[in-house]
Formats: sequence, C-alpha cells, structure tokens
Amino acid sequence: MKPSEIDLHKELKKYFGFNQFKGLQEGVVKSIITHNNTFVIMPTGGGKSLCYQLPALVLDGTAIVVSPLIALMKNQVDAIRSLSSEAGVAHVLNSSLTKTEVNQVKKDITSGVTKLLYVAPESLTKEEYIEFLRSVPISFVAIDEAHCISEWGHDFRPEYRNLRAIIKQLGDVPVIGLTATATPKVQEDILKNLDMTDANTFKASFNRPNLYYEVRPKTKNVEADIIRFIKQHKGKSGVIYCLSRKKVEEIAQVLQVNGISAVPYHAGLDAKTRAKHQDMFLMEDVDVVVATIAFGMGIDKPDVRFVIHHDIPKSLESYYQETGRAGRDGGEGHCIAYYSYKDIEKLEKFMAGKPVAEQEIGFALLQEVVSYAETSMSRRKFLLHYFGEEFDEVNGEGADMDDNVRNPKKKVEAKDQVVV
Ligand code: ADP
Ligand code: MG
Repeated sequence: MKPSEIDLHKELKKYFGFNQFKGLQEGVVKSIITHNNTFVIMPTGGGKSLCYQLPALVLDGTAIVVSPLIALMKNQVDAIRSLSSEAGVAHVLNSSLTKTEVNQVKKDITSGVTKLLYVAPESLTKEEYIEFLRSVPISFVAIDEAHCISEWGHDFRPEYRNLRAIIKQLGDVPVIGLTATATPKVQEDILKNLDMTDANTFKASFNRPNLYYEVRPKTKNVEADIIRFIKQHKGKSGVIYCLSRKKVEEIAQVLQVNGISAVPYHAGLDAKTRAKHQDMFLMEDVDVVVATIAFGMGIDKPDVRFVIHHDIPKSLESYYQETGRAGRDGGEGHCIAYYSYKDIEKLEKFMAGKPVAEQEIGFALLQEVVSYAETSMSRRKFLLHYFGEEFDEVNGEGADMDDNVRNPKKKVEAKDQVVV
C-alpha cells in the first residue's frame, strides 16, 4: 500500500485501540511512513513508542528498534505481541538467545512476519547480525532514548556512538531518533552523531502547568520543615529524593518516628524489599517513599501530589524527570527543592575523580542547577528556557505556579544560609 493510502486512524484503532493520536504523534507517523529521517522530542509519557510502532506495523519490512534497557525491550515486545495474532511480530535480538532462538528470529524476519526487532546497541555490533540484517528488507531504524548518544545527556552510552556507522552498512534506511531530553545541546549532538541534520523534527512542549515549583533554603531545620509540609498534606502521596542511601534511611526513619507512613527505597535494599516498598506506595499502604534516584523509572502512579528534593539534583534534566512524577493525573503536584551551597560542593567533590571531559560537563550542568535555585525569575520560564522553549511568564499556562511568581522576593543566596 502507498503511504498516502494508509488510513492511519483505522490502523491506530486496529492495533492500539485508541481513537485519537496524542500530541504530535500523527505528524511523526506520517513523516516515518513516507521514509523521512525523523527526530522526536517528547516528555516521558508523551507516547513516543507508538510513533515508531505504528509505522513499523503498517510498513513493509522489519523496523530495527535500538533501546538501551533489556527489561524495557522485553516489556515492549510483550505489549506488541498482545496486539497481534502473530507471536513473531516482535522479537528481541540479544546475546542471551540460544542458537535455536536466533534461528527462529531470523526465520520470522525473512518470512516477513516480524515487524519490530528490538536490539541493544552492543548486540548490533555483532558481525553475524549485521550480515544477516543487510540481507533482509529494513523499513527504518528507530533509536529510542537517543540522548544516550550525547555526553551532555544524563545517560551517555559510548555504544550509541557506533550506531551511525552500523546503520550505514544496512543501506539507505531512514533513521528515527526519540528522546525526552530537550536541551538544545543534546539535540544538536543527536542530529550530528546520527548524521540526520535533515530530519523532520517534532518537539512537544515540556511545560507541566499543574506542577508548582519551589526552592527552599536548606537550613538545619530541613527535616522539621519536610515533616510540617507532609502533615499539611496528610494522606497524600509523595516522594522525597535524597542523594545517598544513608540519608534515605535516616529520613525515612525520622518520618516514621513522627507518625508519617513512609518507606525507604534505594539500590542497597534487596530486590524483594524494593519491590515490596514500591508496591506499598502504589497500593497506598504508605503515603511517602524516601528514595535515591533508583526510584521512579517506569513508575506510573497518577496521583503523586508532591516531590521533595532533600538534596539538590545534579542537573536540571534530572530535576525535571524526577519532579515530572508528580501530578500525572493533571491535579496539582508540589515540587520543592532544598538548596544549600554545601550540597553543590558535595556534588562537585563526587565529580572530582572522573575524567576531565566528564567533569567539565558535570560542572556546567551543576551551574545551571545553581542558577535555577538562585533565580528570582519565574522558575517555569527558567526551566523551559533551559529546554530551548519560550515561555510567556504572564499568560503562559501555569504562569503563577511557582514561589518566585507568587511571592516575589529577594534572591536567595545559598552562602547566606545556615548549613547542616
Ligand atoms: P514515552 O516513551 O514517550 O515515555 P510511552 O510510549 O511509554 O511514552 O507512552 C506513554 C503512555 O501513553 C502509554 O501508556 C501509552 O499506551 C499511552 N498512549 C500512547 N499513545 C496514545 C494515544 N494515541 N492515545 C492514548 N494513549 C496513548
Ligand atoms: Mg519511551
């Protein structure tokens, strides 16, 4: 079928059961099915997967999807299989497969059954796989979490740097890059590294008008301040982020002692305890999770009402991601970051042992965090500007949802604060 003859709404309904495209999806899908390089920047939860899954299902050939996380790939493959009568419609190709399994994958691709083939970037370097993929029709290559290609991203993965060269070996196939990282520097890096500066670019707004942004000076009363805040929001769900496991344990205990139902979550707990604590939070057996950044990936609790950073994060991307877990249901989400220069110095010290290039980037990202914390302008405007987006601080959506706009005040200077 010619791309112009495909009824996209019908296909959307048929495969996914949705009546409407979300945000910019339709434009993206059209760009892909007409064989263009395409670049998609949408916040987490924006619906990026469908942007390449639907084209893959309607186009001839197999789409290769590069994704950094094996667990994520497995989830996606299971989800797609449930949409189709053919189990072979989606496959993962990786080093854990047996010879027989690999042969089955190859057979399904060759016979045209497989529409999506998920691969980790390191698997794609295997000569045997490249050889095979060169011999079959490929509809396009989608690179999910494309910010992994950039040292300026929060999750740089060197293997992503080889992708362009590998894709070139596959012939003249369109490339689709997708990311939730919106900083202009990362975007530039992606387009350059994937050699797709000609791509049709689709960028959704990163504004979250229902989130209230606030920065509080971090004094020795920070714990009492947090307890007061939580008690004022009794029965509401919230997350408190801390830098270290030790701090997580400490704060969780302080909250418990003060009659707040809270559990800790960090990578030092065994998997069973982590899963239990996460479930308790999702099922509302507890109100508060005190966590390191290990908590949050893929957690979709719609009614998180506050996200508190006991310790300032190392970049504004992280801050945006972590606060983004509040207010998914559209209701208010209160985002408070406690800030002291001591914490900035602590983060700088962590970076000291790293390679120079990495350090420089780390410092630059951290400097933006300092500027955000110390700014007296609209925090939303600051954040969105950081993501390359203009925001009208008078009439824009959510314009009055931050401390600086509601209570204009003298700039908070961290060095003036009493620090713990
Ligand atoms: P992202 O990768 O951008 O973080 P996902 O692809 O995981 O987002 O999608 C987020 C959620 O949005 C999923 O639950 C998905 O089912 C849902 N979704 C995607 N497209 C649509 C749509 N057109 N209509 C309704 N829900 C959608
Ligand atoms: Mg995604």
